[in-house]
Amino acid sequence: MDTWQKASLLGQAAQYDTCAVCGPGSHKQRDDLGRWIYPAKLPDGRTINLLKVLQTNVCEHDCLYCVNRRSADVRRTALMPEDLARVFMDMVGRGQAMGLFLSSGVAGGADRSMSRMIDTATILRRRYGFRGYMHLKVLPGASQPAIEQAVLLADRVSVNLEAPTARHLACIGPDKDYEQGIRTRQRWIYEVSQRGRLLPAGQTTQLVVGAAGESDQEILTTVDDLYQHAGLSRAYYSAFQPVAGTPLESHAPTPLDRERRLYQADWLRRHYGFAFGELVYDEQGNLPLTSDPKLLWAQTHPERFPIEVNTASRADLLRVPGIGPRSAGRIVQERGRGRLCAPEHLKAMGAVVDRALPYVLLDGQQPAYQLALW
Ligand code: SF4
Repeated sequence: MDTWQKASLLGQAAQYDTCAVCGPGSHKQRDDLGRWIYPAKLPDGRTINLLKVLQTNVCEHDCLYCVNRRSADVRRTALMPEDLARVFMDMVGRGQAMGLFLSSGVAGGADRSMSRMIDTATILRRRYGFRGYMHLKVLPGASQPAIEQAVLLADRVSVNLEAPTARHLACIGPDKDYEQGIRTRQRWIYEVSQRGRLLPAGQTTQLVVGAAGESDQEILTTVDDLYQHAGLSRAYYSAFQPVAGTPLESHAPTPLDRERRLYQADWLRRHYGFAFGELVYDEQGNLPLTSDPKLLWAQTHPERFPIEVNTASRADLLRVPGIGPRSAGRIVQERGRGRLCAPEHLKAMGAVVDRALPYVLLDGQQPAYQLALW
């Protein structure tokens, strides 16, 4: 296999990791040489093309859901740091990629595998002077010096959590040490980045949803702890999809709606001031698939409504279905110039009027609205 073929195979092997900046709804594509490019939204709002690739798909672990697990019968290869750096810079030169997401299987221990990724990143930064976006995966069990180097070189790093508790991880990644190998490393990343004010795009993580029998409430409780105590920038939720040839190939796939509800809940926490504990869960601790979490919260809290749009705080406006951060901000700004007293005024602020009307007063009046039937 030549270098380009290896890069293509390792790009294909990296597609299962969603913990890049891509997030839900982004679509991978191949470049003209068959390498995997992802449109990725950066924390500053820019969208760039990201090459997502593994240093190697050789792995000594045996995670039950993973196509690269040691017992999987797949073609294995590895790229030398110089070769991977050259492939990437070639793509940068052609305008095909602007950023790099680099992960790896674990071959020869976490630190040896990390050192190859760090060498790649170092060549890019020092030899080629690449100043663009770089996301490095920190492998479970990596040492503190390896983490420090990764944090120094990258814009963003991530350790995949995969499951919300040690008990759940044992079901799908029996070789991994949840507390020491993953949670402790997440704390180290936070401490190192805080000390040096590094990692402009922060630390992220990914969870496989639905493979280990965990509930949404268990997932969100753990993610909340990471937001509070490990400086997590954001979590990525990946609905489990069985892969042929893995021990979980006949496990039921997780509905994509479950992934979507988790992203909505996460968004409500990060941008709307909700706490995960406030959301409505079913008896199994899952977010109902049939209803939007914010709408469901409003429907179960009639005592909080209606809200007078002309006097409500921004925080209260954000509780109204159909009003988001942008429209809440505009309402607060514009109402100083005159009272909002008609649905058209609310619409002009960017609110989704049909959703919002049952929950608001406009200048003391409850506006007429039609119940949505479906
Ligand atoms: S550590 Fe687990 S998830 Fe990562 S490549 Fe190896 S088998 Fe796959």
